[in-house]
Amino acid sequence: MLVAGLLAGTAAARSGGTAKPIIFPILGAAHYTDDFGAPRPGGPHQGIDIVAAKKSFALAAEAGKVEFWTTSASAGCMLYLYGASGTTYYYIHLNNDLTRGNDNRGKCVAGTAYAPGLKDGAKVAAGQPVGFVGDSGDADGVHAHLHFEVHPGGGKAADGYPYLQAAQHLLFAAPKGKPFTLELDGTVMKPAALTLQLKVSTVHAWPMGQRQTRLRRPLLLNVPNTAIVQSTNGSSTRKTTLLSARQGQTVKVWTMPATASLKTERGDDLALAAALVLLKQP
Ligand SMILES: [Zn+2]
Repeated sequence: MLVAGLLAGTAAARSGGTAKPIIFPILGAAHYTDDFGAPRPGGPHQGIDIVAAKKSFALAAEAGKVEFWTTSASAGCMLYLYGASGTTYYYIHLNNDLTRGNDNRGKCVAGTAYAPGLKDGAKVAAGQPVGFVGDSGDADGVHAHLHFEVHPGGGKAADGYPYLQAAQHLLFAAPKGKPFTLELDGTVMKPAALTLQLKVSTVHAWPMGQRQTRLRRPLLLNVPNTAIVQSTNGSSTRKTTLLSARQGQTVKVWTMPATASLKTERGDDLALAAALVLLKQP
């Protein structure tokens, strides 16, 4: 928390002290380093290259308005997000493949490069899927990645690294108001009578079918009286209470059906409630 706070402070400082954390612009596992300003053939690198699985969702870093940009040979399929804060974000090298391979047969259109149904000029909510990670433009044949630029005040590019370090990662992405439930796997961090803090390693979001693995994500859940808490050793299962849980114990949780909102997508403290907690005995 302290590190995140310090990094958020750095991002805020760089953008004049008004910035709140952005939504991390990709759903799921992603890797990046601070390659802003790195020497490149066309001049210093203006963005951060975020490597992720091809066709991962690219998410709106904040609420705003999108513009499609489809005519740049180097950027390929590109999107501008004009954020409500005044910051503009560039999403470059979005997907242009129709198959799992590098076929380059897709166009810079909704459903291929941009999120299905998304229209040029549309208003988007923070965290809304706006596109798919790919390798269009001069990233063709290179590992799929999102070249992400941050332009505070719509001016020249700033180093996006502190923004990404402070960014909030979504557990899932769904239209606001859509019913969902999550299947979470992880370990117990801190059990209490009516709450459970766990370290999430895997999240499965239904009915979207989204899956994220290898997370190390703390999450504080409500565990109402109506929740079922069970202990299992693989062959038999019995009822128990949360207070029997031990730190580090493997746990699976199904959340109560809820509706998608930024709070539930981010997994804010106590925004999600458990319906079933399954504590696993070694
Ligand atoms: Zn780049």
